[in-house]
Amino acid sequence: MANQADLLKTIIAHAKEYGFVFQSSEIYDGLSAVYDYGPNGSELKKNIRNYWWKTMVQMHENIVGIDTAIFMHPTVWKASGHVDAFNDPMIDNKDSKKRYRADVLIEDYITKIEAKINREIFKAQKRFGTTFDEKQYRQTNQRVLTSIKKIDEIKARLYPAMNKNNMAAIKHLIEDLGIADPVSGSKNWTEVRQFNLMFSTRIGSTADGATEIYLRPETAQGIFINYLNVQKTTRMKIPFGIAQTGKAFRNEIVARQFIFRMREFEQMEMQFFIRPGTEMEWYHYWKEERMNWHLSMGIPKEKLRFHDHDKLAHYANAAVDIEFEFPMGFKELEGIHSRTDFDLSAHEKFSGRKLRYFDSETNESYVPYVVETSIGLDRMFLAMLTNAYTEEKLNDGSERVLMKLPPQFAPYKVAVFPLTKKDGLPEKARGIMNSLKNSFMCFYEEKDTIGKRYRRHDAIGTPYCITVDYQTIEDDTVTIRERNSMQQERVSIDKIAGIVAERLKVV
Ligand code: ATP
Repeated sequence: MANQADLLKTIIAHAKEYGFVFQSSEIYDGLSAVYDYGPNGSELKKNIRNYWWKTMVQMHENIVGIDTAIFMHPTVWKASGHVDAFNDPMIDNKDSKKRYRADVLIEDYITKIEAKINREIFKAQKRFGTTFDEKQYRQTNQRVLTSIKKIDEIKARLYPAMNKNNMAAIKHLIEDLGIADPVSGSKNWTEVRQFNLMFSTRIGSTADGATEIYLRPETAQGIFINYLNVQKTTRMKIPFGIAQTGKAFRNEIVARQFIFRMREFEQMEMQFFIRPGTEMEWYHYWKEERMNWHLSMGIPKEKLRFHDHDKLAHYANAAVDIEFEFPMGFKELEGIHSRTDFDLSAHEKFSGRKLRYFDSETNESYVPYVVETSIGLDRMFLAMLTNAYTEEKLNDGSERVLMKLPPQFAPYKVAVFPLTKKDGLPEKARGIMNSLKNSFMCFYEEKDTIGKRYRRHDAIGTPYCITVDYQTIEDDTVTIRERNSMQQERVSIDKIAGIVAERLKVV
């Protein structure tokens, strides 16, 4: 199995080879941090999106979905705070000419200290065996205590500086810690500057005086500005939610980790409108709900964790991330934010329109509070690929790569193979294919040996392969092979649909 450092590279190569993800504009040497999804990738992505929609909208009577435009009135982004505050601190290395996010350089430094602590603990664990008490060790070992103190000191300088937009303090911290450019080792840094992440473009013809507008950096604002339209037309009562999936755009300073950080990506967001004062209750509710959702996707518990925000975004009064253990370590997959009435109040102010809700239970009119859940579809896709990618040594000494995707998410549910290209086997296989394709995504393949065809579909994640052989002509039975176990069973053709459907029920 590839080690952690190589795993991302291996997954990128696999994703390309098997039609999951391609670099955008590859024939022109690519466009940085922009990717295209191939035939298998777009199926997997659609299956994740559909599952999110089903579990969030279809399964909740008090959540409805919408689909708003990417372009919005430019004042939306003034009101939301994005024009003034959607910035990241940027720093350049004068020698290597590489650009970095200053806060990420410091966070990576903290990660290195954490790794040192983990190494100490690992060594002690080996030394003391079953009698080892990690909690006590963390509280008493001098080297660990020094490292923890150092992390606390760095955080106590970094987060206040970030909250106050104090770029000079961030630069000082980088200098004091002696952080060098990871590429060149040089410490020759520029000043730290704020960089706004929104892309802008122009709407209207220039002759008429075109207006500058932004490509939305989040889907949430489309929901806020439609909140009253939706509430009035659906007659929803608080608490209720509005969900949407769609593209978002951010001119990320550093975008090097495949589809983890893209400049064009897709979000799946839900804003839950609630009575002021109940936000903590709903915040905890959605925190648990969303963690359970990730577990229902087949992600093991130990690869997920909560991470409370040290620096709150300009709109939030409580925020937590659900992190997944990507090949490059635990990183944010989804955010759950208590946004108070920040957005709706701001839109009231900037638009001059009332965005209040009349609560017939309390006889009051108020601007609702909002708890949101916001997940990146592409990051979820990468989490699914990372979790599913498996290299396996087989009993005969050979190796296979398989994508252990939960069957419901696999691009194809069934592959149908005639054993040979002659003697009526392709016609029989086509007949089976035609009877299944209305219900399931199916793939027909007659090229190469059966073994090679099996391997190809293991690598894509197809849960069932059906082989039509000479016996099929005689008695209408086929072999059905299950991906993970490689077990083959002889079943009659009329049983196939039932077997596949049964397996798809289980996530
Ligand atoms: P990060 O700290 O990683 O930049 P963020 O906190 O800015 O992320 P949010 O604004 O909370 O992210 O966005 C919600 C979700 O959208 C994130 O949890 C993530 O899954 C996804 N997301 C954000 N930025 C990107 C990006 N550049 N590429 C892919 N997905 C993204």
